[in-house]
Amino acid sequence: MLVLVVNAGSSSLKYQLIDMSNEQAVAKGIAERIGTDEAQLKHETTGKEKITRKGVMPDHQAAMKYVFEALTDADFGAISDVSEITAIGHRVVHGGEHFSGSVAINAEVTKVISDLSQLAPLHNPPNLMGIDAAVKLVPDAPQIAVFDTAFHQSIPSHAYIYALPYELYSEHGIRRYGFHGTSHKYVAARARKMLDARGLPSGCIVTCHIGNGVSFTAVKDGKSVDTSMGLTPVEGLVMGTRCGDLDPAIMPFLQKQFGYTAEDVDNLINKKSGLQGITGLGNDMRDIEDAAAAGNERALLALRIFCYRQRKYIGAFAAAMGGLDAIVFTAGIGEHSPLVREMTCEGLEFLGVKLNQEVNAECHTERDISTDDSRVRVLVVPTNEELAIARETARVVSGAAE
Ligand code: AMP
Repeated sequence: MLVLVVNAGSSSLKYQLIDMSNEQAVAKGIAERIGTDEAQLKHETTGKEKITRKGVMPDHQAAMKYVFEALTDADFGAISDVSEITAIGHRVVHGGEHFSGSVAINAEVTKVISDLSQLAPLHNPPNLMGIDAAVKLVPDAPQIAVFDTAFHQSIPSHAYIYALPYELYSEHGIRRYGFHGTSHKYVAARARKMLDARGLPSGCIVTCHIGNGVSFTAVKDGKSVDTSMGLTPVEGLVMGTRCGDLDPAIMPFLQKQFGYTAEDVDNLINKKSGLQGITGLGNDMRDIEDAAAAGNERALLALRIFCYRQRKYIGAFAAAMGGLDAIVFTAGIGEHSPLVREMTCEGLEFLGVKLNQEVNAECHTERDISTDDSRVRVLVVPTNEELAIARETARVVSGAAE
């Protein structure tokens, strides 16, 4: 079974063709700068030369045509005809309260995703463009929507309702939804398997997705019971360019004192804050770590703020679950920064967390990085959102239960 995974952004379209018999990607690529004169497709079929093609891509449908051309190219492609694709799985950011799992796409589903654009104006519309393009070009393949929010639909109301007038929730859907659900679900399931195989407890896990976006989830008995992101991905932890939790009264203060518009505020909290805002050096953790090592005070401060806030969330989620069996690090920083893992776990010894410094220092792949006598296991589990979407797609197509 071949599953094509599509992740459509506002000006890009990422894809991976996955062979479900061995769960390996046979081809992958990205169409980028869609809608501009510089649009191009980068494509790679496993074992063949990488190609980059300039293209005329006024919209996602045009971009999708280039994707299918590359996939079926006699020299650089992976298949001879699109009919070899069994199903297409689409990443959809916001499923609101409507979707607590993945679904086969039909006109009704598309309408709900479109209605939810109000909650995710930057994400759901391009996701829909990807769906629309794929449905038009490969009408016979089943198309499945896999939602970033779905895993978090098990969160109880006392954790997702804001202390605002209740009508804002009941009439306008303003509540915490959470994101990165596909990643949290994938690494939590993998961590539970690793722990169960060793006969270790796995009931209370905090999954730490630390990439350019950062979110943590409290996973109790395999279900999300709380997560750090909220109505939007800005809430919670410090990120590459997002600020995370703030005193909300800062917003009207900036508006009244300095004439900030709603758009200015949006830009400030999404694009100019986080690591970028504190350091002025950018949002790449490697650069921040290098600068801190070279004595840059603001880079060191940013690292401290970043990790301190992460430690607080781990403590809060342990309290929310009434225990802690494992901390799981994933995504670009979580998988590759021993320093961030070390600074995040520092001070959590009272909860039973003991990091094995030597193992941590060299770990970039799946591994237990805690000491033998650590009561709480600390794991690194690389995330693979494309594979998770492909598995969900295959499951829905086969009609199997979760
Ligand atoms: P992601 O959004 O998951 O792709 O993660 C992107 C983040 O991972 C960026 O901030 C990168 O700087 C960071 N990253 C990748 N490799 C490393 C590394 N070896 N050390 C520290 N940060 C890294």
